[in-house]
Amino acid sequence: MDYIELDASIGEGGGQVLRTSLALSILTNTNLILENVRAKRSRPGLMRQHLTGVKAAAQLCDAQLTGAEIGSTSLRFEPGETLVKDMTIKIGTAGSTTLVLQTILPVLMCASTPCEIRIHGGTHNPMAPSYDFLREVFLPQLKKIGPEVELECERHGFYPAGGGRLVARIQPVARDKFRRFELLECGRDLGRRGESIIANLPENIAHREIEELVSLMGWQEQDCKVRAVNSSGPGNVVLATMMFGNVTEQMTSFGEKGKPGERVVRDLVKEVRRYLASGAPVGEYLADQLLLPMALGAGGEFRCSTLSQHTKTQAEVIEKFLEVEIGFERVDEGGWKVVVDV
Ligand code: ATP
Repeated sequence: MDYIELDASIGEGGGQVLRTSLALSILTNTNLILENVRAKRSRPGLMRQHLTGVKAAAQLCDAQLTGAEIGSTSLRFEPGETLVKDMTIKIGTAGSTTLVLQTILPVLMCASTPCEIRIHGGTHNPMAPSYDFLREVFLPQLKKIGPEVELECERHGFYPAGGGRLVARIQPVARDKFRRFELLECGRDLGRRGESIIANLPENIAHREIEELVSLMGWQEQDCKVRAVNSSGPGNVVLATMMFGNVTEQMTSFGEKGKPGERVVRDLVKEVRRYLASGAPVGEYLADQLLLPMALGAGGEFRCSTLSQHTKTQAEVIEKFLEVEIGFERVDEGGWKVVVDV
């Protein structure tokens, strides 16, 4: 069998290189040797969430594994036959359920049978797509390509207590049926929504955040609300959602101990303004998440507000496994155009 040896410290040098190369190793039936896993992170190597993703990927295709241990910076992954089945995956910490899903979803979304995946851990983690982001932003765009995923948050999980439960019901589509993807304009303005989600903390924190959001952005009060949820520990996250005819984008900011709610919202507003000022439909994070489904299918193009190191690294990893070319072009003040040629 072919094998690919990858220095996982390239570009961003984080967990994304690991997740994407695991999925592509299975899909292209290529043995994978990774060195310097998460070399550029303050705690390099496999953390609990990454290890859970590795094991879930291995379970999915009966892979042979070497180096699958906490803290390990090298990994050998030899995929066997892919056998899709319903799975319950327990991270065991507040590690991100959405990033574990991101590891195996590329395989599941083009498999031959539907499945249901239940993941226990964090559902709203900093530096990961939130449950809401996946459901409202990423999955509707994925559906345009073909695969349909219904996502449910059975229980919210925040760092550090965790205890969240995410359920994904995946209706796959064969790769040769994936549609070409195009998203160059936002389309008609369909309004804005603000939400402060709060668990096991005084609700007035969330009310103050919403007041600040309304005052800074001038959004309608009736479109901005507080949602108190059940969770194992404390948690607070503010979401700003912008809806257009062709896309819904969402920016996220997390409450932290010692950080006033007003600052949480001011950080959020900076991101929202940057996105809106670009006029591009795709925000920084949706950009890196769209590349793989496009590259696995019929390619396409989109315009994004920011071209992150993450997106460039994602492109580099994809190009090592698939016969695709991913190009980036500056579009005056309007962000970047990303073209995936297959
Ligand atoms: P680690 O090594 O700790 O796993 P990483 O490099 O894999 O880090 P990030 O760079 O934080 O992790 O990104 C992981 C994924 O989470 C990316 O696909 C990115 O698009 C997504 N992501 C990060 N922050 C957000 C956010 N605020 N909203 C939506 N998606 C996000």
